[in-house]
Amino acid sequence: MPIQYRRILLKLSGEALAGSKKFGIDYDVVSAICRSIQKSVEMGAQIGIVVGGGNFFRGRSSGQMQDRTRADHMGMLATVMNALAIADGLEALNVPVRVQTAITMQQIAEPYIRNRAIRHLEKGRVVIFGCGTGNPFFSTDTASALRAAEIEADIMMKATMVDGVYDRDPNRFADAVKYDEISFQEILEKQLGVMDSTAAALCKENHIPVLVFSLSDSDHIVEAIEGKNIGTIVKEA
Ligand code: UDP
Repeated sequence: MPIQYRRILLKLSGEALAGSKKFGIDYDVVSAICRSIQKSVEMGAQIGIVVGGGNFFRGRSSGQMQDRTRADHMGMLATVMNALAIADGLEALNVPVRVQTAITMQQIAEPYIRNRAIRHLEKGRVVIFGCGTGNPFFSTDTASALRAAEIEADIMMKATMVDGVYDRDPNRFADAVKYDEISFQEILEKQLGVMDSTAAALCKENHIPVLVFSLSDSDHIVEAIEGKNIGTIVKEA
């Protein structure tokens, strides 16, 4: 099957990597995700990944920390652990991969350099972006929107625990209705918690559609790249 999108920014939440453990990394989950990424690369897709850190640490919900900036520094470091775990999973499958971090830690990863990232993608290497935007008070959703714009991605794919965008929280309301398609304007106006408003605004301004889908089955990544009708597509009205 031909691919619908060539250059993709895939956002993986930290939570998704924890699987049923809810904390840390479930390596079986990481392997399954990496196999799908391998398949996508073999189909000709260029994949950049922004990974979250919520399976280890979230700055905004660390009630014990005095200083939000410092807590966010810890959150960004959490994303690096996930980035390294995914890189390891991809290398085990012989998929070429590079990790680039927005905060330099050159003994561990390349620094984030936009043109270099694009060059890697063109050569068929997966690029994993760690440390979010490199700034506190931002999220990895916003980092995904930013990197998607920088690498000129055709689409941002947000793989989450929910299978799309609903009018209400489907975990709380049994009669919540799922959208197949929705505009950025609508998710901003209705304050639907699909992504933070900074990320939504950035994607809207830069004309980057966002596909929200569930990672309950890692094959969804391949199906999404093939353009199959899964999840919810968020785009301009
Ligand atoms: N973070 C940050 N700046 C960024 C991206 C992330 O400070 O640009 C920190 C923030 O503390 C956040 C944590 O890293 O809570 C983990 O990211 P996020 O909560 O977005 O991860 P996810 O929920 O996707 O697992």
